Amino acid sequence: MLLNNYEPFFPAFVKGEGRTLTDSKGNTYLDFASGVAVSGLGHSDPELVRALSEQAKNIWHVSNFFHIEAQEQCAEKLLQASPFAKSVFFCNSGAEANEAMLKLARRTHYVEGQAQRYRTITFHNAFHGRTLALIAAAGKPEHLEGFGPPMDGFDCVPVDDDQALMDAIDDDTAAIMIEPIQGDGGVLVVPPERLHFFRKVCNDKGLLLLFDEIQCGCARTGRMWAHEWAGVQPDLLSTAKGLGNGIPVGAVLAAARCSDAFVPGCHGSTYGGNTLAMQVVKATLRRLTDPKFLENVVERSALLRERLEVLQQRHSSLVAEVRGMGFMLGLALAQGSAQRFVERALHEGLVVVPSSGNVVRLLPPLTITEQEIEQGLVLLEKTCVASSK
Ligand SMILES: *Cc1c(COP(=O)(O)O)cnc(C)c1O
Repeated sequence: MLLNNYEPFFPAFVKGEGRTLTDSKGNTYLDFASGVAVSGLGHSDPELVRALSEQAKNIWHVSNFFHIEAQEQCAEKLLQASPFAKSVFFCNSGAEANEAMLKLARRTHYVEGQAQRYRTITFHNAFHGRTLALIAAAGKPEHLEGFGPPMDGFDCVPVDDDQALMDAIDDDTAAIMIEPIQGDGGVLVVPPERLHFFRKVCNDKGLLLLFDEIQCGCARTGRMWAHEWAGVQPDLLSTAKGLGNGIPVGAVLAAARCSDAFVPGCHGSTYGGNTLAMQVVKATLRRLTDPKFLENVVERSALLRERLEVLQQRHSSLVAEVRGMGFMLGLALAQGSAQRFVERALHEGLVVVPSSGNVVRLLPPLTITEQEIEQGLVLLEKTCVASSK
C-alpha cells in the first residue's frame, strides 16, 4: 500500500493527447490543469516524444562525474531567454531547485565575506516545496505540524507590510524570496510595485532577491518569466514544473553576483540534468521561448480571462473573483468548497485543481485552442450551475 499523504480524485488517466485526457474507463476530459502547470505543451507532443525516445535509445544516465553536453545547450537556451542570469544549475524538482537557490544565496554572502548572512525573508501564502527547509520557509502551519521545530533561517512576513519586512531585516539576513504569483496560496498576483520595493530593499541592504517561478514561469503568463511583466529582475530564480513538460526537472538561474559562489564539491545531484530530461528540456525551451508562441499565450489567455469574467458575473454568488495572469488563473469561490467544485468539474469532463483559500486553479496547457477555451467554458458553466444548487 501507499502512504496516506495524498487524497487523489477518482479518475485514473491512462492517456493524454494534446489537451485531452482519457481515463481507465474510456471517459475523456478537457485538461485545464496541465498536471499543475507542468504540461505546457500538452500531452504526447510529437516533438517531445521524439526527443525523449531518441535519447532513450542512446544513453539514459551518466552522472555528473561526466560531462553532459545537453546541459550546456539547455543552459544556453535558458540564459538567452533570461537576461538577468549568467549561469544555471539543473536538478530534478521544484523543491530541489529552491534548496539549491537558498544554498547559493547563503554561499554568495559567504564568499563575499559575510558568512553571518544566512536568513531569508519569506511571505504569507507562500509555497516553496515540502523539504524540511522549505516548509519552514513558507511557514504554513498545516505543512509544519508534527515535523518538529521548524528549521531555523526564515522570517515570514505579510506581502503588503513594509514595516514588518524592514523589522525582519537584520545583520544576518541574506535574501528575500517570493513567488511573483503565489500559486498554491490561492493564485495571488504580487503587485509589480511590491516587487520593485523588494528589489530596492535588496539593493539598499545588499540582500539577494530570489524569485520562485516554479509555477508561474516557463511561459505560463505569456512571458518566459512572470517577473518580466513587472520589469524587476531577481538575483536568483528557481524553475521546474513547465520546464520539462512532465519529465522531472528543476533549475536555478543565477545572476553574475552569485555565479562563482559554488565550487566543485559544494552542491550536487545524481540525476540532476540527466540526459533524458535535458533532451526534453531542450525541445520544450525551443518552443516556449519563441516570441510567436508567447504572443499566442497572451492573446488566448486574454480570451479565457474575458470569458471567465462573464461567467463570474453570471454566478457572482458562487464565484467571488477571477484572479491571476495569463494561463495561471483562479476562481475564488464565495461559497462551497474548491474540492467539491473540482469533483463536479471532473464529473462534467473538465480537469481543474484546487488551491488554498478556496480557489479553483485553471492552468490549461499553453497550446490550448480558442475552440477548447469555449468548450471549457461550457463545462465550467455546467459546473457552476451544479454547484449553485
Ligand atoms: C510546485 C512548487 C514547488 C515545489 O515543486 P516540487 O517539484 O513539488 O518539489 C515550489 N514552489 C512553487 C511555487 C511551486 O508551485
